[in-house]
Amino acid sequence: MFNKLIAAILPYFPKKFIWIFSRTYISGETIDDAMRVSKDLNSKKIKVTIDVLGEFIKTLEEAEANKQEYLDLIDVTFKNDVDGNFSVKPTSFGLLIDKEVCYHHIMDIIAKAASYNSFVRIDMEDSLCTDLEIELFRRVKNDFPSNAGLVVQAYLKRTYNDITGLTDLNSDSIPLSFRLCKGIYVEPEAISYKKHEEINRHFLEDLEFMFKNKIHVGIATHDKILVESAYDLIAKYNVPKHLYEFQMLYGVTPKLRESIVNEGHTMRVYVPFGKQWFGYSTRRLKENPKMASHIIKAIFIKG
Ligand SMILES: Cc1cc2nc3c(=O)[nH]c(=O)nc-3n(C[C@H](O)[C@H](O)[C@H](O)COP(=O)(O)OP(=O)(O)OC[C@H]3O[C@@H](n4cnc5c(N)ncnc54)[C@H](O)[C@@H]3O)c2cc1C
Repeated sequence: MFNKLIAAILPYFPKKFIWIFSRTYISGETIDDAMRVSKDLNSKKIKVTIDVLGEFIKTLEEAEANKQEYLDLIDVTFKNDVDGNFSVKPTSFGLLIDKEVCYHHIMDIIAKAASYNSFVRIDMEDSLCTDLEIELFRRVKNDFPSNAGLVVQAYLKRTYNDITGLTDLNSDSIPLSFRLCKGIYVEPEAISYKKHEEINRHFLEDLEFMFKNKIHVGIATHDKILVESAYDLIAKYNVPKHLYEFQMLYGVTPKLRESIVNEGHTMRVYVPFGKQWFGYSTRRLKENPKMASHIIKAIFIKG
């Protein structure tokens, strides 16, 4: 209760206090920060997916500026020889304002990434966006079959059907690519599973379907039980290395991450950066309220 209460009030604290918590999870405000962190991860045999922070914009001018930031990021990433790809949140490009504008911005970003033979992952946002993001993915996949992938969330009751509904896009030569995660947004009970075991059961059901159907998957979790169950499924289906990788968020469970790398599996870390770190941070904070009490202790008790 105490931790939850602190997590609820922390977003109203001055930003510089929140930054004390956030710097564990965010590489910094600039592209240079993202490059520094990415190179460090690469040196530990970890690939990255880089995200420019910024969601739920209010104007299409912001969408244009966000696109430009990604285009610059892509050039700089390959100039720096970073082993990475990119993650985008469609609402940052105007999905909820004008979906055509959003589609064209995301196409420009994918085209730029494709010019380096790279890849763009479309993050999945809250359930207001699910249909729109699936539709967007279908469209971009049509134009750039090997350069785009989608995130799916195991906590949504609809997800298994969404995955099976996209299998017409899967082929042996160009497999579909999903990132499978639990889901981070607070969704109504009518459409989402709430219990930890229930979410995990559906996560593994989705994962097994992907392995059986030779769909590429980024297994995005820090949950040790899921990681171990994924190992079992990988062994059961003899899944080749090119059809899966593990994924984690920057700053979360580095020991588990290292153990996965040491087991010889591919690991990719989500590296967020940007001036708009505040919204991202407070979401992470609500997700893990225990962190919040550590911050409070650090600020008020340890001075
Ligand atoms: C690479 C990647 C991309 C993602 N993209 C999306 C997306 O597009 N859309 C979306 O809805 N969600 C996304 N998520 C978030 C995801 O949905 C979960 O909310 C998040 O990963 C926590 O779930 P978990 O599987 O790690 O399990 P949990 O049961 O939540 O966590 C397992 C353990 O991991 C540790 N842990 C987890 N989170 C934290 C944290 N923030 N700080 C410290 N420790 C932590 C704790 O020890 C916890 O006990 C992404 C996650 C990853 C790893």
